[in-house]
Amino acid sequence: CLIFFMEEVDVEGRVRIVMESALTARDRVGVQDFVLLEKYNSEAALIENLRRRFGENLIYTYIGSVLVSVNPYKELEMYSKQQMERYRGVSFYEISPHIYALSDNTYRAMRTERKDQCIMISGESGAGKTEASKKILLYYTVTCPINEHMATLGDRLLQSNPVLEAFGNAKTFRNDNSSRFGKYMDVQFDFRGAPVGGHILNYLLEKSRVVHQNHGERNFHIFYQLLDGGDDDLLTTLALERNPQSYNYLVKGNCPRLSSVSDKNNWKVVMKALSVIGFTEEEKLLDIIASVLHLGNTQFGEGEEGETYITTETQITHLAKVSTVPPVSLDVHICKNTMISPLNFEQAMSARDALAKAVYGRTFTWLVEKINQSLALKGCTVIGLLDIYGFEVLQHNSFEQFCINYCNEKLQQLFIELTLRSEQEEYETEGIAWETVQYIDNKIICDLIEEKHKGIISILDEECLRPGETCDVSFLEKLEDTLGGHPHFVTHKLANGKTRRVMSREEFRLLHYAGEVNYNVNGFLDKNNDLLNRNLKEVMCQSDNQILCHCFRREEVIHQKRPEMAATQFKNSLMKLMEILMSKEPSYVRCIKPNDAKQPGRFDEVLVRHQVKYLGLMENLRVRRAGFAYRRCFEAFLQRYKPLCPETWPNWHGRLADGVSTLVNHLGYKAEEYKLGRSKIFIRFPKTLFSTEDALQA
Ligand code: ATP
Ligand code: MG
Repeated sequence: CLIFFMEEVDVEGRVRIVMESALTARDRVGVQDFVLLEKYNSEAALIENLRRRFGENLIYTYIGSVLVSVNPYKELEMYSKQQMERYRGVSFYEISPHIYALSDNTYRAMRTERKDQCIMISGESGAGKTEASKKILLYYTVTCPINEHMATLGDRLLQSNPVLEAFGNAKTFRNDNSSRFGKYMDVQFDFRGAPVGGHILNYLLEKSRVVHQNHGERNFHIFYQLLDGGDDDLLTTLALERNPQSYNYLVKGNCPRLSSVSDKNNWKVVMKALSVIGFTEEEKLLDIIASVLHLGNTQFGEGEEGETYITTETQITHLAKVSTVPPVSLDVHICKNTMISPLNFEQAMSARDALAKAVYGRTFTWLVEKINQSLALKGCTVIGLLDIYGFEVLQHNSFEQFCINYCNEKLQQLFIELTLRSEQEEYETEGIAWETVQYIDNKIICDLIEEKHKGIISILDEECLRPGETCDVSFLEKLEDTLGGHPHFVTHKLANGKTRRVMSREEFRLLHYAGEVNYNVNGFLDKNNDLLNRNLKEVMCQSDNQILCHCFRREEVIHQKRPEMAATQFKNSLMKLMEILMSKEPSYVRCIKPNDAKQPGRFDEVLVRHQVKYLGLMENLRVRRAGFAYRRCFEAFLQRYKPLCPETWPNWHGRLADGVSTLVNHLGYKAEEYKLGRSKIFIRFPKTLFSTEDALQA
């Protein structure tokens, strides 16, 4: 049956029956599916619909099968176990939109069609992606059957979140718990539909945060949790002080505490989670965290001949102790390069920071591997959850934003391709003629970035490998030579040889599908190179800490094989991700952040409009509304509206298609208003449906 406006869940989680006509209800709380908007081509109408619903705490709305979610910034009591029960086995349109409806639908599709599924969650920082992915996971662990042999798997799946968040999330300007890495997680199900395994892929951790944070931001949570929550004995063993402000790597953001959460409590949560997952290496892991802090406090002096030496003896002793590396090696190698010639002051500082970033980054990857071992994959079908950084435009955009936005171009390309494909397929299976849809194809921008030899990533790699003097500016010049004149690439140089004054000489601008972004090339080469002196790698190989030994392998030093550059590595891992996603049946959650102040009840229209654009919602709506606003299988349609026609009431005994045909003829539908497919009725305009719904309620 179809209950567009009859049923709503209020803030307390109570179900409220709204006895209004379909048309007046629409004026008050908007439509629960954007395809039912009369003016489906108008961005203003879409935003107004979002605003109305948000005002009523109805944070979820559909575009066909895509779920749009607006972050309420307050706890809504709509996620209880009771609510989960309400959504179990119920079809999408029968009940108000919810993340549980999408979770359930995906699960049922996996079970009935025996096909792998994936749920792609997108949106900008703070929009609610991670919260959404956690709710989906919780839904599965609570509502799915349990495999007796894997009774604790659900717990382990859920507990992987606090661990990864402690090590991979941080307070940023936009989000107190911002994921600083991309995550794709497969949940594996057995033939009875019980979750039996999991596997996580991680993408591009923002390692630069280990050594630097902007004002008002923090390093990764784990550092503060350890200092606040670790007991006195532990801190003494690790030679740490309690005050985060004592550490160079924590002091820069000048933001030691979070108002929203307690590091001390979270410390307990993380320690418990590690034990649920079955960790036995906590001590070694904490040694590494402590050694990063000691490394950050290592200071240098400059000798008369410009040579550098370490002035903080005690730090080195602590560092050597916790990282179990001989102090002499550390001392010598942080201040010298591969040829054992002295580094200058600046170089020594950056060698130190590079080491800290490498140690932390590789430990994070090790941690993900460890969790994967604990979730050991055993199932036959999977549901994949993708929680990955959204399109990002900051005041100052660097290499990281370039990678993030490239990733979003790829996801948008995939989205358009898959949505168009599935629409086209549905029309075909239903035997209805396909009407061509106009859409923006962003392949040209993907090519601009990733094409072999001519793309930005190739040019960047070449510049990193080219012998002789290369620098960020020479990279920019190379870009200009190769890409000048490309319709999506702009620099300060104009075609007529003059300069564009509004752009700095250190920037290039890309015209992304979601908008223009200026990237500052400073640091591109270094970040792409991501080099660590060979001798520092050697030092790390000497460590007795098994995690460090695992992260810094002898073979890497012996073979001296240059690892792929960071951007190419990212590009290759994205290609693999695209393959994974392509092989599955996709569903989408599009998250929107209603205001920048992280406050409940505030709906900033300008901000929302930007996101509607970045998320490509209008595009999505146009594809979905290309022909018909609404489609429903014959049985469900007949079941709901049969009281409106004496021939179909109380029961129709003939073919379903004939029943629907009799019903709509009786209702006076005109030929151009609908089409009958093989199993579904397609209705072109929302108003046709609304008046039928009103007739039913009259
Ligand atoms: P990032 O890209 O920075 O990781 P994100 O999209 O993952 O951001 P979340 O961390 O999921 O954002 O959400 C940010 C905050 O918004 C949460 O910590 C929580 O306070 C609030 N929030 C998000 N979704 C909900 C929700 N459904 N109900 C209540 N609060 C929410
Ligand atoms: Mg997140």
